[in-house]
Amino acid sequence: MIDEKLEGVFAEVVARNPGEVEFHQAAREVFESLGPVLAKYPELADQKVIQRICEPERQIIFRVPWQDDHGEIHINRGFRVEFNSALGPYKGGLRFHPSVYLGIVKFLGFEQIFKNALTGMPIGGGKGGADFDPKGRSDSEIMRFCQSFMTELYRHIGEHTDVPAGDIGVGTREIGYLFGQYKRITNRYESGVLTGKATTWGGALVRTEATGYGTAYFTREMLHARGDSLEGKKVLVSGSGNVAVYAIEKVHQLGGTVVACSDSSGVVHDAKGIDVELLKQVKEVERGRVSDYAARRGDATYREDGNIWEIPCDVALPCATQNELTGRDARTLVRNGCVAVAEGANMPTTPEGARVFLEAQIAFGPGKAANAGGVATSALEMQQNASRDSWTFEHTEHRLADIMTGIHDTCHHTAEQFGAPGNYVVGANIAGFLRVARPMVALGLI
Ligand code: GLU
Repeated sequence: MIDEKLEGVFAEVVARNPGEVEFHQAAREVFESLGPVLAKYPELADQKVIQRICEPERQIIFRVPWQDDHGEIHINRGFRVEFNSALGPYKGGLRFHPSVYLGIVKFLGFEQIFKNALTGMPIGGGKGGADFDPKGRSDSEIMRFCQSFMTELYRHIGEHTDVPAGDIGVGTREIGYLFGQYKRITNRYESGVLTGKATTWGGALVRTEATGYGTAYFTREMLHARGDSLEGKKVLVSGSGNVAVYAIEKVHQLGGTVVACSDSSGVVHDAKGIDVELLKQVKEVERGRVSDYAARRGDATYREDGNIWEIPCDVALPCATQNELTGRDARTLVRNGCVAVAEGANMPTTPEGARVFLEAQIAFGPGKAANAGGVATSALEMQQNASRDSWTFEHTEHRLADIMTGIHDTCHHTAEQFGAPGNYVVGANIAGFLRVARPMVALGLI
């Protein structure tokens, strides 16, 4: 429920951003946590900090024309929403997916403000992308698209201004093509302008693994706070992209067993535990589907259009995309004895699903806390680029693990302090909000 003092403010956000349902959803979730904050700090209401946070500092929408391998011309729409720079340069990924429109970019950018604040690193919040579908596109088509995209984007970004990275549909390959074009246009080798670079030319070790690893670490911390551990736990990880693959790898290293993963076509159930090396081969090297994994893994079963959340488990990690886990799925998970859920993706649980988890009092880690390891390691990449240094895998992973424990503890303490013990949604929203709100007041009305 939104506090009555904030109802009008929220109604205005909805009215000012018509049709952007994902943005409304992300904003509502934060608004629902903020009542007690304004009661405690009325100066933040006087300064209209919430209203200011909800209005992006700058929004860029642009045409991205490109030619496919047969010479046919395509026109896509590119976006960059520079949401908030109170803590540092705008920071956040680029998503290439046909579902991308302003409402998706704004929900992601809004989440990113609080997520980035929670990491404790000096980064503001932003997000971008295009309604481009990379599925089935050749390497050269991807390259031409990235070059066209950057030909507009380059004038808006910079290591001290706005630092994009990857998200769905954008990985090391795309970051390479984007950086190449940026370097060519600007005649600057400005390593810190993009993160998620390959480790052969300025990328940080652990960045590829960081979001998934971080989600597994966050899960470990939530279980630890309840006197439990990942040891022997049966785990579901939806998705099979970069976040999912490395969440699976780290869960296995921490003693759990991931018995299923998925993609947009179906679900693979592998009771012996997912073979991460085979999954990497299929997904990263061959750019294949989980059905290809199932075909090569004797005992695994593949179900087209299956629902992963129906498989009994102790822990669920939604790592695919927004609103993939519904109220019905949440009730199934709770009924099957699931004790912890951590969001590796951004907003994968519907509001009803989140309510079910909170009412059942299972450990529920929202994305802006549980998947912050990716962007935190991007900030570590920026740090290495700025000092022209490169750290070892061990050192970087150690930093990541510390950051995730820190985020967990911050959310845990904040929830307790505001009268909602064990509620990581309230903890993450309030802690993230306060970290941005205070510098916004300090910097004056800008
Ligand atoms: N796209 C990722 C996220 O949702 C990473 C962003 C970044 O590294 O800048 O946090």
